[in-house]
Amino acid sequence: MSIPSVQTGLSFVPPDVLRAMETIHGAGFGVWIVGGALRDHLLGGEPKDWDLATDAAPEDVMRLFPRVIPVGIRHGTVQVHTRKRDIEVTSYKPTGEDGILKDLSRRDFTINAMALSYPGGLLIDPHGGRQDLRKGLIRGVGAPRERFSEDVLRIVRASRLAGTLGFDVDRNTFEAMREEAENLGQVSGERIRDEFRKILLSRYPIEAFDLLRKGWALGKLLPELVVRDHVDTLPGSKMSILRHALLCVRHCPARLRLRLAALFQNVAVPATGARNGKLPLEYAKQSAMAASGRLRLWHMSNRQIDEVAVLIEKRFPPDAESWSDARIRRFITDVGTDLLDDFTALAEAERRARGITDVEGIEILRRKIREQLGVIPAMRVRDLALKGSDVMEALGLGEGPEVGRVLHSLFERVLRDPALNTRERLLEIVTAEYGPQSGLPHGPSEAANGERSLPRSGRRR
Ligand code: ATP
Ligand code: MG
Repeated sequence: MSIPSVQTGLSFVPPDVLRAMETIHGAGFGVWIVGGALRDHLLGGEPKDWDLATDAAPEDVMRLFPRVIPVGIRHGTVQVHTRKRDIEVTSYKPTGEDGILKDLSRRDFTINAMALSYPGGLLIDPHGGRQDLRKGLIRGVGAPRERFSEDVLRIVRASRLAGTLGFDVDRNTFEAMREEAENLGQVSGERIRDEFRKILLSRYPIEAFDLLRKGWALGKLLPELVVRDHVDTLPGSKMSILRHALLCVRHCPARLRLRLAALFQNVAVPATGARNGKLPLEYAKQSAMAASGRLRLWHMSNRQIDEVAVLIEKRFPPDAESWSDARIRRFITDVGTDLLDDFTALAEAERRARGITDVEGIEILRRKIREQLGVIPAMRVRDLALKGSDVMEALGLGEGPEVGRVLHSLFERVLRDPALNTRERLLEIVTAEYGPQSGLPHGPSEAANGERSLPRSGRRR
């Protein structure tokens, strides 16, 4: 080979990836390991996802593997499924050495523009990627400004890589980022989402956001977080709302919905509200709505959007650790069990972000939640010891909203007093309070106006 190369070997490559490479090579094509896996391996880390480059055309790749999907046919990318993972295989032209060199020259940063040959295990590094790995630098391949204008998402990728690797951005590259940042409006929500997901889950999210902010990119990507960054401070603190949010992100365990909630938790707290010393809690609902709006633009799933919104809106107030047991139970049934750890993690991060190191209160809250989870036998209406059919029978009711109302009021009482959740006790309550003699509006007498219908069998609520 005429280009300088270093023997690196393939011993770090998992067997299924090697088999895929062998399949391509065996059919007479060239194939290389490229991208993040090679970079992460050279950094001494564990490669995550695998990218291959080949001079086989996408149609050839599709023909060679039983389980493939064309993910980015425009860029010549095909996804090959092995039993263990999905491998992205991208085609380059022309065939041979010129082809892989051309491919690498089109990649974004020097540390991402190396390739490892198969079966030789020789590393080619035409843009000085290994040197930048040693220096801890993100540096664009070729003329940085042109490269950012070709694909402006690379600005976000630079910050994302800096955040995941703990690297700096080379000065020329950074200046080019600034000059091109105004075009960030052209990038699709999905691509931005994917990079922000990696930023939020990275080891240095604050540094990545700082780069985006100093590079004039954050105001284009998330204007709602920066519009008033210079005036807004957290009530009772000199810290800006954005700084506080980022510190919260950093203090949260690396779970996406949690860190998104941390990021957007006070996005709607206005400058005036903050100055008047009003608690962000008053703006929780509006912040949840603003966050949902952004996440919809990012095309996140409805479920993820709802989870983030609930975490923001229903966050624990500062005095939650002194809540009564009944209030804790109501909270649990209100938000469900799935998000509980995230709620306490968010509350803890919020305190730590404000410099509070004594988070004993959060531990108290966690303990109370555990205790109440143990005593709540009826987590949802359907866990009541009495079923809808029992209520219908006891009260002579047909199917209808009335039954639901009775069940709900029973449920409220069981939350207050879990000991009531036995069939016997609940039946007693139903007949005493809703039965014909009770005289209460919930009784069936009122339902005579049509809601009291004959039981319709076979239809479930
Ligand atoms: P990760 O480990 O997070 O997957 P990665 O560097 O592999 O990081 P990918 O998005 O998987 O990131 O991209 C694989 C490779 O494709 C990159 O290493 C880079 O060489 C190239 N690449 C990806 N996106 C771009 C882009 N927008 N412009 C130029 N090259 C890109
Ligand atoms: Mg990758």
